[in-house]
Amino acid sequence: MRVIIIGAGVIGVSSAYYLQRAGCQVTVLEHHPAPAQETSFANAGQISPGYAAPWAAPGIPLKAMKWLMQEHGPLRVRPTGDPFQWQWMAQMLSNCTIEAYARNKNRMVPLAEYSRDQLKLLRAQTGIEYEGRTLGTLQIFRQLKQLENGRRDAELLAQMGVAHELLDATEIARVEPALAHMAAQLVGALRLPNDETGDCHCFTQALAQLASSLGVTFRYGVDVKGLVLHLGKVSHVQLADEQLEAEQVILAAGCTSRQLGKMVGLNLPVYPVKGYSITVPITNPQAAPRSTVMDESYKIALTRFDQRLRVGGMAEVAGYNKTIDPKRIATLKMVANDLFPSAGNLAQASEWTGLRPMTPDGTPLIGATPIGNLWLNTGHGTLGWTMACGSAKLLADLITGQTTEIASAAYGISRYGQ
Ligand SMILES: Cc1cc2nc3c(=O)[nH]c(=O)nc-3n(C[C@H](O)[C@H](O)[C@H](O)COP(=O)(O)OP(=O)(O)OC[C@H]3O[C@@H](n4cnc5c(N)ncnc54)[C@H](O)[C@@H]3O)c2cc1C
Repeated sequence: MRVIIIGAGVIGVSSAYYLQRAGCQVTVLEHHPAPAQETSFANAGQISPGYAAPWAAPGIPLKAMKWLMQEHGPLRVRPTGDPFQWQWMAQMLSNCTIEAYARNKNRMVPLAEYSRDQLKLLRAQTGIEYEGRTLGTLQIFRQLKQLENGRRDAELLAQMGVAHELLDATEIARVEPALAHMAAQLVGALRLPNDETGDCHCFTQALAQLASSLGVTFRYGVDVKGLVLHLGKVSHVQLADEQLEAEQVILAAGCTSRQLGKMVGLNLPVYPVKGYSITVPITNPQAAPRSTVMDESYKIALTRFDQRLRVGGMAEVAGYNKTIDPKRIATLKMVANDLFPSAGNLAQASEWTGLRPMTPDGTPLIGATPIGNLWLNTGHGTLGWTMACGSAKLLADLITGQTTEIASAAYGISRYGQ
C-alpha cells in the first residue's frame, strides 16, 4: 500500500515510521528543509500521560477572565476578525462542563498512556536517543486552592489507575532538590512518577533517520498546494509544479491541516494556539531540575535536558501569528529565575514561539474521513509529543486493517458531526 503523509512534524514522522514498519511504502511531504521545524521544534519536553487533560475544564471560563487581567497570566486573546476564532472559543467553552471534561480526559489519558508504552517499546527496539529521562513530572502549587484542585485531580487519576503522589511542601525537595529554597512559598505538589521527558525535535530527527533507513521517502522543501478529488477520493496531491498520484493520504500538517482539509470540504476544528519557550544553557547542574517541574500558578513547565533547561508555556488565541512578544519571554525568564535562580545563563537563552494545533475538546483527530482514502492524524494541541507514538501506531493499525490495541472511535472526526 502506498501512503503519502503531509507534514514532517513529530506526528507525521511517527506515522511514517509505524506505517513503513507495517509494510507500507511511505512518502512524506514537508515544506521545510528538515523535520520538526514548526510546532515540534522547541516544545516544553513533557511526555506526560499523567497530565493529559483538556484545557477546557470546569472553572476555566472564570479563571480565564482573571488570567486576561494579569501581567504574567498564561492566557491572551487577540481578536483577529476571523469568525472561526469565535466559533472555536465557543466550542471550547461548551466543553468546560464537568461531564465534558470527564469524557475528554477519559479519551486523552488512554491514548497518552498507550503512547508512552509505544515509546518505551520503540526505545527498546531501536535505542533511539533524544535526551530523554524517566523521572516523572512534578506539578507545584503556590496556593491552597491549587492544592485542593490537585487533590481532585488525584481522585480522577486514582479512578483511571494512573500512578501519582500528593506531596506536602516539606517533601518537594526530596524529588527536586534544587527547589529546597522555595519551601516557604510552596504549599504542595502532585507528582506523576511514570511521566517522561525529552527533546521532541531530537526525537523527530532521529526517528526520521530510522524511518529513512526502513525505506520511507522524505521530500523536503515541497509545499502541498491542494488535494485533487475524483469520485469521492483523493486522486492526486498537488504540489507547486507536480501532481503525485494518491493511494492513501494522511493529513498530519499541524495547524495547516484545517486549510488543507477545507479544500476538500472538511471543517477541521483545529485552531493555532500560540505558545512560547526559552532554552537556557545550564551552568550549574545541581541547581537545575532533574525532570519536569510544572508551575501551576503560571502554567509554565521547566524541563531538564542534558545540558539545557527548556521553559515553556502560555496560550495566545491570536490566529496564525508567530511574532515573539518580549513580555511573554520576560514571564518565562521570571519564573525560571524564581524557581531555579542559579541553574543557567538566562542572558544566553534562545527564544521560540509555536502554534499548537488544538481542537476545542483537547482530543486529537485520528482516523478516517468521509473522503475514502484521506486520513487524519492532527489536532494534538498541548500534547502532541506525549501522544505521537500512540497516535501513529493507532492510525497505522487502522489503515492497514489490523485490530487496534486501544479503542479508536473516540478520536474520529465524526464526533464533530462529520
Ligand atoms: C510552547 C509549547 C509547549 C508544548 N509543550 C508540549 C509538551 O511539553 N508535551 C507535549 O506532548 N506537547 C507539547 N506541545 C505540543 C506539541 O509540540 C504539538 O502538539 C506537536 O508538536 C504537534 O506536532 P505536529 O506534527 O502535529 O505539528 P508540526 O510539528 O507543526 O508539524 C506539521 C508539519 O507539517 C508541515 N506542513 C504543513 N502544511 C504543509 C503543506 N501544505 N505542505 C508541506 N508541509 C506542510 C509543516 O511545515 C510542519 O513541519 C507544546 C506546544 C507548544 C507550542
